Amino acid sequence: MALWPSWINALHTQKHPLKLHSPLMQLAKSEAEASRMQELAEHRAPLGLERSPPNSIKVQGLCLPKNKFGGLISHHDGRVDPLALQECLRAALLKRSVKAIQESVLRVERRASTSPKRWRLHLASGTHLDQHTIVISAALGSEALLQPLGHCRPLEPILGQVLELEVESESNNWAGWPAVLVSHGFNLIPRDRNHLWIGATLEPGEQPDSASLKKMHTLEGDAPNWLKSASVSNHWHGLRGKPIDRPAPLLETLEPGLILATGHYRNGVLLAPATAEWVGEQLKTSS
Ligand SMILES: Cc1cc2nc3c(=O)[nH]c(=O)nc-3n(C[C@H](O)[C@H](O)[C@H](O)COP(=O)(O)OP(=O)(O)OC[C@H]3O[C@@H](n4cnc5c(N)ncnc54)[C@H](O)[C@@H]3O)c2cc1C
Repeated sequence: MALWPSWINALHTQKHPLKLHSPLMQLAKSEAEASRMQELAEHRAPLGLERSPPNSIKVQGLCLPKNKFGGLISHHDGRVDPLALQECLRAALLKRSVKAIQESVLRVERRASTSPKRWRLHLASGTHLDQHTIVISAALGSEALLQPLGHCRPLEPILGQVLELEVESESNNWAGWPAVLVSHGFNLIPRDRNHLWIGATLEPGEQPDSASLKKMHTLEGDAPNWLKSASVSNHWHGLRGKPIDRPAPLLETLEPGLILATGHYRNGVLLAPATAEWVGEQLKTSS
C-alpha cells in the first residue's frame, strides 16, 4: 500500500484521472473474527488500522449488512477504478515508447549459454524473438511455457463472478459508506448514485455456478432488503491463476535471464506496484 500513492501520482493525468478511494471497512462475522480484528488494530494502528466496536458503525445512506460484531477500518486501504488504471498504464507505456506485440507465445526455447540472447520466443505468427532476459507473466498460460524448460509451476483456475446492482435512486444512497465494504468475504463497492459492484465469488474451475452467485447477492442470507431486491444491471466473470501447493504470487528468477512474475491469484491489482518493483530489481541484476 505504501507504493500506491506514488504510483497514482506518476500515472494520473488530466486526460486519464486516477484516484485512490479510501477507506476499506471489513465487518466481522463472529466473535472470534472480531477479537482477531481487535489484536490487529492494536498492533498495526500506525499503519492506519482501527477497530470499530459493535453498534458504532452508523451510515446515513442505505443501511449496512448486519454487523453485531463490529469491524475493522483500514484508513490507507481502498480501491482504484480498475478500468481507469488500465487506461493510465497503457498511456504511460505509450509515452515511454514501449513496443507492444499482440501475439501469443507458443513456446520458449533455451539457446546455447554462450549466446548473448539466450531466450527465443516462438510467436503464433510463425516468427520468433531472441532476448537476453524474459519475464513470464502469463498467469494460467505460464505453466505450459515453463514445462518444456524443466520448470514445474502448476496453476489452477479459480473463477470469480461480479454483479453490478441497481438500487432505488436516492441522492444520498452511499452517504457515510466506506470506499469498500467487506462483508462475508465479498466486496461491496459503491459506483455512482444508484449502482454498486459486489464481488467476487471463489469458484474452483472455469464454469460459473448460479448457487455461488446467489450466495454472494444475499450475503449468505444476511443481506439487507435493499440489497436483496436490487436488480442486476451487469454481470461478468473472470479467471484467477492460483499456484498449486505454493503461496501466491510466484516471484522467482528461475535461471539467468528467465524471470517468473505471475500467479497473483486474488491480489494481482493490489500487488502490481510491489511486483513491478521486484521485477525491476531482478532486471537490474540480470543486465
Ligand atoms: C472477478 C475478479 C475480481 C478480482 N478482484 C481483484 C481485486 O479486487 N483486487 C486485486 O488485487 N485483484 C483482483 N482480482 C485478481 C486480479 O485480476 C489478478 O490477480 C490479475 O489479473 C493477475 O494479473 P496477471 O497479469 O498476472 O494475469 P491475467 O490478468 O490473468 O493476465 C494474463 C495474461 O497473459 C496472457 N497470456 C497467457 N498465455 C500467454 C501466452 N502464451 N502468450 C502471450 N500471452 C499469454 C493472457 O492472455 C492474459 O492477458 C480479481 C479477479 C477476478 C477474476
